[in-house]
Amino acid sequence: MPIDATLPYDDGNIFARILRGEIPSRRVYEDEWAVAFHDIAPQAPVHILVIPRGRYVSWDDFSAQASAEEIAGFVRAVGTVAREQGLVAPGYRLLGNVGPDAGQEVPHLHVHLFGGAALGRMIA
Ligand code: IMP
Repeated sequence: MPIDATLPYDDGNIFARILRGEIPSRRVYEDEWAVAFHDIAPQAPVHILVIPRGRYVSWDDFSAQASAEEIAGFVRAVGTVAREQGLVAPGYRLLGNVGPDAGQEVPHLHVHLFGGAALGRMIA
């Protein structure tokens, strides 16, 4: 069910629970700013979600309210995960859904990282 990205942050959302360790995930990376784990329903051979530790619903509130340090930390984490996964030379795709028209389902900011195959133009 797509979410309304203008609603306040919900601490009960599934990625908040993954961050708190209440729900298991296949973590591939974590640092002060971000955590990355495999998507439970992969749409590519590599499908990783990178999320900030901060309480942000989507790119919208993150881009408007996060500190420069948080933004830099998160962006760097996304790049680090891609490098650590060996995806830079073959290439990869980043995707962020915001709100109903994009089909955002989890109300905690996440960047999808797809790779491991030629992706074509329509993966989402
Ligand atoms: P969205 O449509 O951009 O919000 O993407 C949410 C993503 O989270 C989807 O690709 C889901 O497969 C994924 N997802 C949902 N629950 C879990 C989980 O518990 N672990 C890992 N990925 C999940």
